[in-house]
Amino acid sequence: MTDPDRIRPPQGHFIAGRLQPDAAALAVLRPSDGRPWAELPVADAATVDQAVQGAHTAFERSDWARGAPRDRARVLRRWADLLEADAPALAALEGVGSTRPLRDAAAWDVPFTAEGIRYFAEWADKLGGDVAATRQDHLGLVISEPYGVVGAITPWNFPLVMASWKVGAALAAGNAVVLKPSELTPFSAIRMAELAVEAGLPPGLFNVVQGDGRATGEALCRHPLVGKMTFTGSTRTGAAIMAACAQHGPKPVTLELGGKSPQLVFDDVPDLDTLAGLIVGAITGNAGQVCVAGSRLIVQRGVAPALVERVVRRMRAFRPGATWDAAAWAGPAPLAPIISAVQAARIGAIVQAARDAGAELLCGGARFDDGPGGAYWQPTVLHSVDASNPAVREEIFGPVLTVQTFDTEEEALALAAHPDYGLAAGVHTADLARAMRLMRALKAGTVWVNRYGRSHDFALPTGGWQRSGIGKDLGRQALEANLRLKTVLFGF
Ligand code: NAD
Repeated sequence: MTDPDRIRPPQGHFIAGRLQPDAAALAVLRPSDGRPWAELPVADAATVDQAVQGAHTAFERSDWARGAPRDRARVLRRWADLLEADAPALAALEGVGSTRPLRDAAAWDVPFTAEGIRYFAEWADKLGGDVAATRQDHLGLVISEPYGVVGAITPWNFPLVMASWKVGAALAAGNAVVLKPSELTPFSAIRMAELAVEAGLPPGLFNVVQGDGRATGEALCRHPLVGKMTFTGSTRTGAAIMAACAQHGPKPVTLELGGKSPQLVFDDVPDLDTLAGLIVGAITGNAGQVCVAGSRLIVQRGVAPALVERVVRRMRAFRPGATWDAAAWAGPAPLAPIISAVQAARIGAIVQAARDAGAELLCGGARFDDGPGGAYWQPTVLHSVDASNPAVREEIFGPVLTVQTFDTEEEALALAAHPDYGLAAGVHTADLARAMRLMRALKAGTVWVNRYGRSHDFALPTGGWQRSGIGKDLGRQALEANLRLKTVLFGF
């Protein structure tokens, strides 16, 4: 078992290619046991200005944007190799400081981060423009150019992966980046940036400023040299960032926000045991702290009792496991901690409000009282909830599943529709025509049919509809979102 006391995170900001110390201002706790781990500076407007000015200078003076795109790709690929080679150290930082088990951080988060960077690298020399249809004595060109400095703000649930999607796309498109990671999980981003410089990225092209949303995040959005903001986090913060970008720009935003994703199950599904495992996995992975968590089970009446019974049985099997406890994570149903006691209290308040509004508790409903010190929430199933129930309406960001039943496809669609969110949805049916109808009718940025969750499909753009977001991460679209178009017309 890794001794978390031996893992020391890098201190300070990462500006112009090196660590820059700053006075400690915030305590960073270890989610697994709730104990203090390190201290964090909070970059003020002057420090953010220094990072952005430096990024702007690096963008203007280096060959990153001006030079051959294949040279960019080569550096990014080398960076991906270094990230993989550094997996044990990166996974230790990620594992001790976040809700990600060390085992999974080494086996999934770090390789997924590296492979994502490679995916973006491969786009670097494939982002040409267009020749427009013009008169014979004209030549019209549409050229893609980087914004200059892209500001990125990321959440705490998958710190490395979320950062890599923002930073990889922005750099591959030729931009410089200033990243502000979540103040709850701030350190792995610094290690990422150090490795980028080691891989040959010109200093100043990838900077990390530490701090909270109010001081550091807002200063980044406001900065006049930040040409575009890209954000992943809650819908409320996304709206604040958009407002700041409107007031201090206007400048474009990519927003990957919250969700309340339904899983629709029809009576004709062939294998209830496998499906129950999939439903449970989609709400307990990372203890439900996943933007696309399948948090609303909407199940046809005939199959509901048998499926719900299987789901509840599996939900009851989970045991809390510190992220660094290899034995716990080798067990049959390990559960990650909730990021903080504050977040666990919020989960508790919503579950209580749901029960007050008439929800029936089938399992869970409280914190584990025998965990290794952090906040661990028992996987919870709430039945008999209507569309206005708080557990159906609000993104809980914990292992809490609601169950609603229906008779007809129309009822299923009506239940699936959420007034605010439209991030993802799952459809489970053996009827191909029904799957096709629902795939078109569901209002969500991603629809999974007879499966749930992402795989290594970097070519598939991800992003929400409605209040779940604007724009896409991943895919060609993520690259395009980091470029602006210039139209050129020659007359001859
Ligand atoms: P959050 O909105 O509280 O914070 C996200 C980031 O924004 C942090 O770095 C924070 O410091 C910063 N921030 C806060 N206030 C700010 C402000 N006024 N100006 C600028 N920056 C500010 O979100 P969180 O709790 O860290 O993450 C959980 C949320 O993220 C959930 O809602 C989840 O659904 C969402 N999420 C979405 C996706 C997606 O792809 N759609 C992926 C992961 C997480």
